[in-house]
Amino acid sequence: MVDRSDPASAVWAPPVAEAAPRDLCTDCGVSRSSEPKQCGQACQFIKPDYPSLEKIVHGRARDATRPDEMFFGPFRRMLRAALTHPRDGAQWTGIATRIGERLLETGAVDAVLTMAPDPDDKWKPVPVLVTTAAGMAQCRGMRMGYAPLLALLEPARQRGFKRIAVIGIPCQVYALRALEKKLGFEKIFVVGTPCSDNTTTANFHRFLDLLADDPDSIIYLEFRADYHVELRFSDGHVKEIPFLQLPISKLPPDFFPMTCRTCVDYTNVLADITVGYMGGEGQQWLLVRNERGEELLGLLGDEARTSTPGSAGKRGGPVRGFLGNVELAAGGLPLRSMPNWLRPIVGWLMPKIGPRGLEFARARVEMKAVETVLHLRRQYPQRMKNMVPAHVWALVEPYGIKPESGERP
Ligand SMILES: Cc1cc2nc3c(=O)[nH]c(=O)nc-3n(C[C@H](O)[C@H](O)[C@H](O)COP(=O)(O)OP(=O)(O)OC[C@H]3O[C@@H](n4cnc5c(N)ncnc54)[C@H](O)[C@@H]3O)c2cc1C
Ligand code: SF4
Ligand code: SF4
Repeated sequence: MVDRSDPASAVWAPPVAEAAPRDLCTDCGVSRSSEPKQCGQACQFIKPDYPSLEKIVHGRARDATRPDEMFFGPFRRMLRAALTHPRDGAQWTGIATRIGERLLETGAVDAVLTMAPDPDDKWKPVPVLVTTAAGMAQCRGMRMGYAPLLALLEPARQRGFKRIAVIGIPCQVYALRALEKKLGFEKIFVVGTPCSDNTTTANFHRFLDLLADDPDSIIYLEFRADYHVELRFSDGHVKEIPFLQLPISKLPPDFFPMTCRTCVDYTNVLADITVGYMGGEGQQWLLVRNERGEELLGLLGDEARTSTPGSAGKRGGPVRGFLGNVELAAGGLPLRSMPNWLRPIVGWLMPKIGPRGLEFARARVEMKAVETVLHLRRQYPQRMKNMVPAHVWALVEPYGIKPESGERP
């Protein structure tokens, strides 16, 4: 059993306060801080201001003359990448946690804030402060669920840490950036991962229960860009399930919480470096966004093999198909009565010659924008005015979705 309760432990999980009740909240941790009212300023789901924060973090907002920035946010360069020695337990090759290790190895930071698995449930994320490079190994891999990462900022400050790194998902990184100035750290490095379709760990277990007779033996799951879910089992065998054969019609209509259906940042645009996979055609996909991001990538030296990302196919048809299905679903999982729900819900996944590489990533970003507008319009129309940034309206415009009266500030 891992003991993370000792503050001297290399992987420390400090006790955190109760969350304040909030509507549209992924429990990023701000409501558990000594100033829970900061949510008003920090929350992606209240009144996000991406252009201002992009300018503060990257020195400029996204540039319309560089078309991919309209999808992925400001970046200096995009790369396909892989660690030459992939790490055990990593979600892909382990670039995200290896950057954390390198920051600790080189003394660039005092601690890394990130997620480790709960000792009693490997799929449940628990926020931790990691102070040794060796400790980062515990944090590799993806968990499904929400956990209050930013509630660890105050314990980090109280421990006297001055330079920290945060590895987080977009809704956490937005709040971090919105509060960064007043946090009082000398330096914060931000490694972001893309994120979409998260759900509670409890919901995720219901999904795993449908995938195997012994769901406890599933140790890895990924929705790959080649339209398969990859499952790895504790006895070493691997299963690849085509999306269309997933038993998802058995899940409840609210399987994905409204937060993750209406989140406006897929690619973690405020991170210094985004480490994902969906533009990588089977490898990892990096977006180096600013000077600090270059520094982070530089820490990997020749441990990472990089190349130029490719792009193929056309996203228009799949995105239009997805839009139609979201409209038909009227707020639930699209067309649940069909024998295979996944055809409608992720129609974009199915085309034989579908978008690949960067075009796949653009398609996913557009789909997420479509979902945001349609779900908010249906369930939180009063939120649209403040919650939908201009970049989201620009992404859905080619599909005939335009702001209606009262939907823009
Ligand atoms: C819910 C979710 C959905 C995602 N969806 C996409 C997607 O659609 N497209 C895409 O390109 N990438 C997505 N990612 C990111 C992807 O799964 C990989 O984390 C990323 O590609 C980095 O791989 P790696 O091998 O470098 O990571 P590792 O070196 O294995 O490190 C993974 C890091 O993620 C952190 N982490 C794990 N679970 C969580 C969690 N629940 N909340 C916050 N942090 C967590 C870990 O603490 C660790 O620091 C998603 C991640 C999550 C958590
Ligand atoms: S997601 Fe974070 S900032 Fe938003 S309401 Fe929840 S705790 Fe507050
Ligand atoms: S999909 Fe968006 S709101 Fe949901 S956990 Fe991921 S970043 Fe947060």
